[in-house]
This record gives sequence, C-alpha cells and structure tokens, in this order.
Amino acid sequence: MGSMANSTAKVMPVTQLKPIVLLQAATGLGNMGNTCFLNSVLQCLAYVPPLADACLRKQLHGINEQCPGLGKCCCCLTEAQLRNQLHASSTVYPRDIVGNLHLFSKMFQRGRQEDSHEFLLAVLDAVERDAKRLLARAGCAKGARTLIEELFCGRLRSQVRCQECGHCSNTYEQVTSLSLDILRAASLHDSLAQFTAVEVLDGANKYKCDRCARLVRAHKAVALHHEPNVLVVHLKRFDPLSTYGKVGRHVAFEHSLRLGEYCSDPEG
Ligand SMILES: [Zn+2]
Ligand SMILES: [Zn+2]
Repeated sequence: MGSMANSTAKVMPVTQLKPIVLLQAATGLGNMGNTCFLNSVLQCLAYVPPLADACLRKQLHGINEQCPGLGKCCCCLTEAQLRNQLHASSTVYPRDIVGNLHLFSKMFQRGRQEDSHEFLLAVLDAVERDAKRLLARAGCAKGARTLIEELFCGRLRSQVRCQECGHCSNTYEQVTSLSLDILRAASLHDSLAQFTAVEVLDGANKYKCDRCARLVRAHKAVALHHEPNVLVVHLKRFDPLSTYGKVGRHVAFEHSLRLGEYCSDPEG
C-alpha cells in the first residue's frame, strides 16, 4: 500500500501504453436484465486499444500503487471487468459492475433501462475520480493527469466573430464526447459539418460586440480546439416524430476520419 507522501510515485505517461493486438475477438456479454445499455458501452471500451492495454497490464490507475479500494473503486471494477472480457473464452456477465452501479452514478438503478451515453460518461467520470484519489494518496502532484483525461478529454471552441470590426469572442469547453444530431445527416461527415457550421446572428439575434459596443451582425461557430486522443461520438437518435421515437437508419462513416476541417484555425 502506498504511503501518503511517496515522492517516488510516478504517473504512467500515456505514451508508454502501446496499442494491443487482439488475436481473437473479445467475448460477448450476457444480459442481466435491462443491461444492454451498459453492455454496449463495456464492449466499446474493451476495443479502445490503449485502454484495453492499460487494463491488461493492471495500470488503469496510472500508477504502480496498490489500490485500497476493496472492491468499491470504480477504477478497479472497470479494469477487472475489461480484463475479464479480453481474457474470457465464454460469455461474461458484468456482475460486479451491475452490483455496484450506484458507485458509478447515483442516477442509475439496477434492472432499469438507462441511457448508454450517460453510462459511458458516468464510467469515465468515476474511473477518473477514483484514479485521482489513488494518485493523491500516493503523493502525486495535484495537476497529474489521469489516463482517462489523456485519452478522452478534448476541448471545443465556440467563437463569435463580429462582421463589422472582425473582433472575436472565444469560449472553451472541455468535452469527453461529441453529441451529434443525425436527423438531417446521412453520414458522420454530414453531422460533423452541421455541428461545426457557421450560424449567422442577425435580425432579432444580433450580437452585442464588445469592441463596437452595439448590436451587430455576427458569425458563430463551434470547432474542435484540442482533439482528444480517442474521440467518442454520440449520435443523437432521439426523434419525437418517428414511430419508435428513434432514428433507426444507418449513419455512414469511413474507416478513417480526418478531423482537420472541423478543427479551429490556430490563426483565428
Ligand atoms: Zn482502485
Ligand atoms: Zn465589432
């Protein structure tokens, strides 16, 4: 067990984690009663190479310290679950995750159908929280980044540009996933293009420019300012007007995704 002021404690740089090569597909997950929302997320996480690698090496905490979590640490629970999926040769039942759902988020109730995207965000949050707890316990610097931050955290920039004087106002938001509308998108590129499209603020929506000190016509756009190492895309399938309440059609995507056109221009 690590001492409270272990100055030799080192956070594992993400660059040390090499992509794994799975010799066979990881095993399937058994449904434990309305657990498809969490099974699908666990399946996705098991196929994120650096995350799978960290779990197989028992390094999800990002530090070579024994975790005193005693089965109540979300980092330990997730690591054990993903290891199990990657090693097992027959169906795996995510019993420890389902039995400890409340540790990931108090919002979730066992046996109730929940939202996959919310569960994913809860897992990432809880793993990061408990990894940070161990880092702090081991005496690591407060700003030490966890593997979850290194892999999944990116930043969005929302920019409003005054069309009179060119003045730009930028706001930034840290994100662990992009939630994209697909109601009018046939492909991932379509939805990313819509997400980052320029919106004209005019008429009743005119913008108050700080420099001009009056209401002006302006352009507003969101762009990826710092791309995460692992980009999570959440397709918003909810459609109140459809028969089943969901957009069921296929959304096309290519094997490799170039993000350049959706990123902010460093020149402005
Ligand atoms: Zn732990
Ligand atoms: Zn202006």
